[in-house]
Order: sequence, then C-alpha cells, then structure tokens
Amino acid sequence: MTIITGADETTSAGVTHGPVDAARTYDKVLPIDADTVFLERAVNETELPPLLAALALVTGEYDQLLADDLRPPLPPMDAVIAPQGGMTQETQARAREVALDALVRFRDSGSRPAPLPDEDALHRIMAFLTRQAGPDCLPLLRHELGLPKDTGAPTWSLQETAPGTDFTVAVIGAGISGMAAAHRLRQAGLSVVIFEKNTEVGGVWWENVYPGCRLDTPNFAYSYSFAQKQDWNWQFSARDDISGYLIDAATRFDLRRLVRFETEVVQAVFDDTQLCWSLTTQTRDGHRTTHRFDAVVTAVGQLNRPNFPDVPGRDDFQGAAFHSAQWNSSINLTGKRVAVIGTGASAYQIVPAIADDVASLTVFQRHAPWMLPTPTYHDRISEGMTYLLRHVPYYGRWLRFWQFWLASEGRLPFVEADPDWTEPGSTSAGNAHLRKQLLERLEEQLADRPDLLKKMTPNYPPGLKRMTRDNGVWANALRKPHVDLVTDGITQITPTGIRTADGAHHDLDVIIYATGFQASDYLAPMTVKGRAGLDLHEHWDGDARAYKGVTVPGFPNLFMIMGPNTGVVVNGSAVFMAECAVEYTVATIGSLLRTGHRALDCHPDALDRFCTWVDAGNLRRTWGSSPIDSWYKNKFGRASQVWPYSLREYFELSRRPDLNDYELLGTLTPTTGQPR
Ligand code: NAP
Repeated sequence: MTIITGADETTSAGVTHGPVDAARTYDKVLPIDADTVFLERAVNETELPPLLAALALVTGEYDQLLADDLRPPLPPMDAVIAPQGGMTQETQARAREVALDALVRFRDSGSRPAPLPDEDALHRIMAFLTRQAGPDCLPLLRHELGLPKDTGAPTWSLQETAPGTDFTVAVIGAGISGMAAAHRLRQAGLSVVIFEKNTEVGGVWWENVYPGCRLDTPNFAYSYSFAQKQDWNWQFSARDDISGYLIDAATRFDLRRLVRFETEVVQAVFDDTQLCWSLTTQTRDGHRTTHRFDAVVTAVGQLNRPNFPDVPGRDDFQGAAFHSAQWNSSINLTGKRVAVIGTGASAYQIVPAIADDVASLTVFQRHAPWMLPTPTYHDRISEGMTYLLRHVPYYGRWLRFWQFWLASEGRLPFVEADPDWTEPGSTSAGNAHLRKQLLERLEEQLADRPDLLKKMTPNYPPGLKRMTRDNGVWANALRKPHVDLVTDGITQITPTGIRTADGAHHDLDVIIYATGFQASDYLAPMTVKGRAGLDLHEHWDGDARAYKGVTVPGFPNLFMIMGPNTGVVVNGSAVFMAECAVEYTVATIGSLLRTGHRALDCHPDALDRFCTWVDAGNLRRTWGSSPIDSWYKNKFGRASQVWPYSLREYFELSRRPDLNDYELLGTLTPTTGQPR
C-alpha cells in the first residue's frame, strides 16, 4: 500500500540533524479506500472543526470548507466543553455535508494532498478554528501546529555559533521533559547524555502501573509538538498507550543511545574554577562515578516522590501496604479486604478499577474532590474517527491544535479570586458559577443516596485542589454494597487495620496509599551545590524558586524543566510547559555561547521580579487565596508549584532569553567541553 507523506519535508530553521526528520514520520497516512457510506458514518462520528481545517489544507478548497457560516462559535468554556465548538445542529449537518463532499473528491482524485500552502492560507485556517486569536497569537499557534516546520527547534547551532568548541550537557531524567530536552539540545548540535534511574524511558508513565492509570488531560494535547502521533486509541489514553508513545518517540528520535539507564544522579556540584558541573552518579549495584559537564538540565519530574501520611503505627501493619506510584503487582487483591487512603486523582482511578475484585473496599477521605463532568473520559476514539485520523493528512495535527486552543486559557476564568467576593464556598462570580454546575451534576448522580451526596460534597471552592475527571465511575464504585467511604479521620494504623476518630477499627488485608507526592521538594533527594558550595536545598529551605521556573541565582548553567511555578492547574498540559522551558533553556545556552562566555548565573533581582509577579497571580487564583492546603503549595503556604496565568504568557516569556538577567562568567575556548 502507498504511504502518503504530508507535503514538503522542510525541517527546522536551517539546523537539521538526522533525527529531526523523525517528526514528519508521524504525518504518514494511508490513501482513502473506504466507500462513501463508510465515510459518511466516519464524518458523523468525528470532531468536525479540525476535520474542516485538515480538508481545507489538503484540498485547497478554502471557500467551501472554511465558509463563515461553518465557523465554530467557541462559546466560553463551561464545566463541560460545548461539543463541536458550540456549532448548532444545523451548522453541524451542513459541515458534515461539505466535509463528506471534500473527502469523496479527495479520495476520487487519488488522495494526493495539495502542497502546503503559504503562511496567509495557514493563518486563514487557524483563524477559522480560533475565532478570537489575533495576530499576536500566531507564533504560539504555529508552534503547536508545527507546519510547515517545527518552530520549537533551535534557531542556532553550536557549529555556527561557537565553531570549534564542544558543549556538553547532562540531562537528568528520561521522562517526558528529559526526552524533549535531549532532543532539542541535540538539534542545536550539543553533546548530550541522559541519566535515568529506571530501566526504561517514560518517567511517571513508566513507573505508575496501578490499575486504571490513565491521562486526565485530553490526549492529543498531551503529546509533543514535535512528535504528533495521529492515531491515539482514546480521548484520554490509558497508561500503556502513553508509555508506548514515549518509548516509540525515544526510538524514532534516536534518543535511546544517549540514555544511561539504571543510573541515578546523587550529587551535582558546580566547580567555581573550571566553571562546569561535576555529577556523581550511582548505578543499581551501588557503583559511583563522577562526570563533568558544561551544563545540567534537570528533568526529574514533580509528582513522583511518594508522600506517606504521618499516622502513628504505619510500620505496624502486618498486611501488604504500598503507595499508588509503587504498585505491588505481586499482591493479588482478589477477595481481599482493601483500603485506599486518599481521594485525589490517583485514588479516583484506582478505586473503580479494583472495586469489583476485592472482598471489601474502604476508601478513607479527608477532603472530597470536585469532579469535572467528562462523559467521554473512558471512551475509545470511534472507528470512523480513527479511520479519518489514519487517512486524512494532518487531521491529527489539527485535532491536537484544536484541543490545545480550547484548553489554552481553559477554565482560568472560573478560578479567579475576587477580593470583594464574600459568598462562602466560592472565590468569585465565575467560581460560584462553576461550583453551581458541579454541584448540580453531583446531586443528579446521587439523588438516591443523600448519605453519599453529603460525604462527597466538597467543603471548599472548586479549583482549590486538582479536580478529577468524572464520567460517573467514582460514584458508581462508592455505591457498591461492599465499598465504604469513610470520612472520619485516621487516628492509628494497627497491625490488622486502621482505626478512625470515631473509635471504629477497619480490619484490612491491604492498605493502598493514594496519598500523593512530595511535590514541593524540587530536585530531592539529589544534593546540588552551586557557587562557593551553596547548597540548593538549604538555600531554598522548602520554598523553591526559579526564574521563569528554570534558573536559580548561584547555580550557573543549571536549568530546570518542570521547575517551580510551572505546573498547570486548569488549563493546558504539562507537556506544553515542559517544551517551553526546554526551548527557553536551549535558546539561553545559544545566547550564552554567542557571547563567547562559558556560564551564566541568574541575577537575584530578576528572580525576585519574576516571583513577585507569579505570586501576585497565584494570590488572585482560588488555590492561592485560600488557607486550605493542596499539593500546589509548600510548607509556607506559598503556591510554589503552579503557574497562575495563561499558556500564552508562559510561551511568550520562554521565547525571550535576555542576557541582562544573567551574570556572564568565563571565556569559551576551543578546548571547552573536551573530556575532563
Ligand atoms: P493528591 O492529589 O495529592 O491526593 C492525595 C490524597 O490523599 C488526597 O485526597 C489527600 O487528602 C489524601 N490524604 C493525604 N494524607 C491523608 C491522610 N492522612 N488521611 C486521609 N487522606 C489523606 O495525590 P494523587 O491523587 O496521587 O495526585 C497527585 C497529582 O498527580 C494529581 O493532582 C495530578 O496532577 C497527578 N496525577 C495525574 C494523573 C493523570 O493524569 N492521569 C493521575 C494521577 C495523578 P486531602 O485532599 O485532604 O489532602
């Protein structure tokens, strides 16, 4: 069978290194071979606005496919996103007709896509999908579409910028962020080594194997802009699919050979004389080695160090006990009396997945989660839509673009904290509106179970903690006769179970801790020492701060991906934020090398300005304005983990490496970076 590759093979801005072309391998689709009846069914099952966009691109029939009266109106996002961008049923019917006609003509003319159009035509398609996006949004939109080129690729190369020199970078972690970092650094021609403590790439998606583990962010948007897989199986992928995607990307982009598996970085020390980093690694057999690098990029993740509750007797329990992220697959839960402690995102997936296997299930809840209605949460992508994704060039890209755009501001208007707002249970008019919608859905689901409704109604404003995705499975699991939702606090763990504040003892065989992560302890447990031996953890003292989430004064050439204040709460995906931080890192290294210096160290006042701005933003959000704890905040109550603004704001500030924010150190010489 012929494989159609989307139009031309243009790559990054003049800097092409073999693996970069791997990005375009995702665009390969098959010719359309289905009959018109099947195509009609497929069009009925699919997401129309991005299909119209893709068909316009490949057929060049802009006037018909992008007609003004087919434009999705994009009503403001509500608790539930309006299907098909808010198109009326009548508009949807017309759009289906136009799309089907175009598909049939495309099939009958041999499925040959038109050459990629000029920028104006691309912008016309983007304007059709985004409606209100002005020209200032174009760089962001182009970045996410990735056509005709990958605009996130570095615009410089070591060879052109600092000929005759080498510049070595250690990337710590081969999860989503580390792989993105290694790919971009290598595109710039830098020498990269990735240290990974696990046996495989994928980070949390490799480590988390608990039953029910899956994404809670729409899938297409939770993928790399430079590796746009077209044919995901789910709207919200299961763990194996995401792990498989990352393993596949590592192979396509030839990253595997850069990775030193089962090797943990235990210490990173900056050498003030040599102006380089000395890394101590440890393999599983305890063997320690020291390596030297010009720069270090940490991509160690944020939600992977288990948090166990500080409850008396935790070590006394005689049954099996483990954390959700360290699932013990050797324990068969069938017929056991099982407890799940916690009702966050992990518990929310585990409880429905195991409920039918166990003899009894006791769920210990401290705060009820707010649940965001997501009827398609467990839905496979339909057969028809899958067919279109595999046969219409660039449909997957436009679908990803569409998901990205819908989520780029996301539900931020619902999580504003209005200082004049006094209504209890909410922080602003928008937040009260969201609360009302979520409560209505909860009341609908639990009309016959006032006891559960009472327990499951959160006592804090929505958005203050991470909301879970709800398609009804949580409530259904909790209503089962052998499942009990306990809201009395845990006072003690005994050899045979859990005792609660009401004096009850819950007899158990297994305790599963779905109690979250030590999210504020960035870079722990690694020892990190900067200039003059400054210890990073002592310096932060539990209040991690980094300029743009990436650099820290006193720690030259240390770059953090998914660093402080870069987690997103109700808009977009972590992959986008990680890519922005990576691109900022690579651009900053490029600027440094252009000056002929060897290292840069962030000015403290640049960091202060950034933190003041971010803190002010977080204080105007539901999570920042309340004294209630969540993993968004550190022990001082400062929201040090999360980003309060739109994705576009982070994108824009990550485009601007400004060397005035840095002290420049040393001189780059042709010997720099040679093995030391
Ligand atoms: P989490 O959101 O921090 O939830 C931990 C839960 O444990 C909370 O319900 C917490 O209650 C409870 N807890 C802690 N100590 C307790 C105690 N002593 N007694 C009773 N309950 C206790 O952790 P998570 O569910 O693992 O999720 C963490 C983050 O990871 C998520 O927010 C999400 O960003 C990410 N995640 C993503 C996915 C996905 O994409 N599929 C899946 C899982 C996790 P309180 O609310 O009272 O603190």
